[in-house]
Amino acid sequence: MGKQQKIVVVGSSNTDMVVRVKRFPVPGETIHGEDFSIHPGGKGANQAIAAARLGGQVAFVARLGKDAFGYQSLENFKKEGLDVQAVVLDEQLPSGVAQIMVDASGENVIVVAGGANQGLLPQQLEAHAGLLESGEFILTQLETPLETVLYLATTYGGKGKKVILNPAPASELPEALYKNLYAIIPNEEETKFLTGIRITNEETAVHAAAYFHQKGVQVVVITLGAAGAFVSTPDFTGSLASPEVLPVDSTAAGDTFIGAVAAGLSSGMDWVEAVAFANRAAALSVTKKGAQPSIPFLQQVREFG
Ligand code: ATP
Repeated sequence: MGKQQKIVVVGSSNTDMVVRVKRFPVPGETIHGEDFSIHPGGKGANQAIAAARLGGQVAFVARLGKDAFGYQSLENFKKEGLDVQAVVLDEQLPSGVAQIMVDASGENVIVVAGGANQGLLPQQLEAHAGLLESGEFILTQLETPLETVLYLATTYGGKGKKVILNPAPASELPEALYKNLYAIIPNEEETKFLTGIRITNEETAVHAAAYFHQKGVQVVVITLGAAGAFVSTPDFTGSLASPEVLPVDSTAAGDTFIGAVAAGLSSGMDWVEAVAFANRAAALSVTKKGAQPSIPFLQQVREFG
């Protein structure tokens, strides 16, 4: 393995507030909830923490509110060993929150109020240009403004940094963004949304990957849930299976997978090795409840085989 390279994650941080209910209320109705819990979340934070727990050297660029959730999140990032010099506390906007109701059947309804995440604009990236320059891999998602993601890709992709996009939640993407991406890692639904192709077998996965490659993306990885992931690089095309596990809760499986890919690449793995490593890490995360509590540490993945 080569020298450890730095990962910069630019993305969201939310506080998830979860109430369990027997059934969802109808408009205008008030019902009693069963229990209430608060968890740190947000795709950016989850992926940054996954990359750090799995051996990466990670800096997080994020925006929080100057409120209790913001301070709590910042403490959490420090505890996880993230470099937080580019985490900014917004003077006006509140911290991002996700209000989640889960019913007796496990179905959920979610409202996300982005708050300060929506204030993570290109100016914040300009103010921390030195940190971004120091990263070899730049990882981002779509829970912050698209103009920020576009700025990141065009500025740093253009400078030869390896910009990796997890296009979640799915939304239309401009051509200039694709052109400057090193890699894209969608799940099956995001792939369908972006390419119009439903993944049913290897052939459809090859077609979907070709759609992204034609737009200039060098590496495409499509996550396939329990089936693992499809990988398309200049040197390798094919699916890599995920280990079989007894699933308990798939929350943050995707975030664990993506953080693990970044950690693997930054420690010198090639794409096939990094995806195999990510499959093991994400499979492990599925065996535990919750988002961040289910993200494994490097030692656990090594022991898992
Ligand atoms: P989520 O929204 O649940 O976080 P996702 O839809 O973004 O996940 P998936 O494709 O469902 O992403 O899963 C991501 C990765 O997690 C897969 O590529 C695989 O490595 C692992 N994984 C998911 N479900 C299972 C499972 N049941 N068994 C083993 N591995 C799994």
